Amino acid sequence: MNIATSKELFERAKDYIPGGVNSPVRAFKAVGGDPIFFAKAEGAYMYDEDGNAYIDLINSWGPMILGHANRGIEEAIFKAVIGSPSFGAPSRMEVELAELITEMVPSIEKVRMVNSGTEATMSAIRLARGFTKRDKVLKFEGCYHGHGDSFLIAAGSGAMTMGTPNSPGVTEGTAKDTLLAPFNDLEKVREVVASNKDQVAAIIVEPVAGNMGCVLPEPGFLEGLRSICDGEGILLIFDEVMTGFRLSSGGAQEVFGVRPDLTTLGKIIGAGMPVGAYGGRKDIMDFVSPQGPVYQAGTLSGNPVAMAAGYAQLSYLNDHPEVYEKLEKTTLKIMDGYKKVLKKHKLNYTMNQIGSMISLFFTDQKVIDFETAKTCDTDLFGKYFRYNLDNGVYLPPSQFETWFISTCIGGDEVNKIISTFEDFLNQS
Ligand SMILES: *Cc1c(COP(=O)(O)O)cnc(C)c1O
Repeated sequence: MNIATSKELFERAKDYIPGGVNSPVRAFKAVGGDPIFFAKAEGAYMYDEDGNAYIDLINSWGPMILGHANRGIEEAIFKAVIGSPSFGAPSRMEVELAELITEMVPSIEKVRMVNSGTEATMSAIRLARGFTKRDKVLKFEGCYHGHGDSFLIAAGSGAMTMGTPNSPGVTEGTAKDTLLAPFNDLEKVREVVASNKDQVAAIIVEPVAGNMGCVLPEPGFLEGLRSICDGEGILLIFDEVMTGFRLSSGGAQEVFGVRPDLTTLGKIIGAGMPVGAYGGRKDIMDFVSPQGPVYQAGTLSGNPVAMAAGYAQLSYLNDHPEVYEKLEKTTLKIMDGYKKVLKKHKLNYTMNQIGSMISLFFTDQKVIDFETAKTCDTDLFGKYFRYNLDNGVYLPPSQFETWFISTCIGGDEVNKIISTFEDFLNQS
């Protein structure tokens, strides 16, 4: 496969952009090789600068759930652009999108639009702190909540409950307010909360983790978090930036029937435009400025082009519940095909799936948290990723990312995805 133009662009990019990319995972550091530069995309396929086609299993990390270049969404965007790309003042579509989101997501009574998932989570914990008058936040190892300082904390060995920054630039002061527990470990959560009595403002969790590969909550885990929060005056925040509008039109909270106090949204909500949002209980959201004392603002928040794109996508999803059945069917076909291939090769790799979120883990262990996810053979994943890339299948460039299925992936694409996996195992 000729990727000369991508290589040339990457060489140029490295001179002027840190690492040649505007978001680290795109640099393929975890899998080796150079990133591909894309020129256009349509339906299930992305086309690179040299004209190669790839079946897209990233879909812009989720937003393109209806596939690329969806006509309805494009038309909504064109119309908004002609009206002016930005007002910096209120406009109708903000109201309509807010109404639609509160209708779709069970726990959201009021919502504030921002420009990314990171902004949504940062704002949500500021709000939780302002509302509860407490400083600490508990997060789970392996859960990603964007690049806000409070979230860039990993467990140091033997320091499970006391965060240490895992990026230079995050101060010790910020780190000490972030508490950690392993995903799916309620006992540890109870312990950490008890030893920080009346200091924890919020527990933030991806209700289905997608950023250590797809890891499902064990039965009772989300319900347990809810009851711990209720007992201790802690706010429960579901970070549904990935799961929102993906697992169902009401997100993971609808699927699992657990109501968080606050929810953060991103990715699908903007249909490819930079959009995030946070919302939840009215009494909490009324703490946000200008109604309340917790300051949060944005020059381009509620941007008319972004709102039009988001409204077009969300209203389509809301009106077409069959989309979710279709997505799950496609995902199950891929999983069944993979499982057959694994069986034939007498391999026991783990696959986790829910709705249209799916991961293949190169490990025999059941994956329920970050520790078990880390048992994967990441070198093998790298080889597998590059083999797919060479054969026109574009997977997320990390073992620890979920694949994102779109409605445009049909039978031909599913067959190609499965046969590429089989070919990979045959040649390795
Ligand atoms: C992608 C993601 C974020 C960050 O969103 P950005 O738009 O990249 O800032 C936060 N939380 C979760 C769960 C995500 O998947």
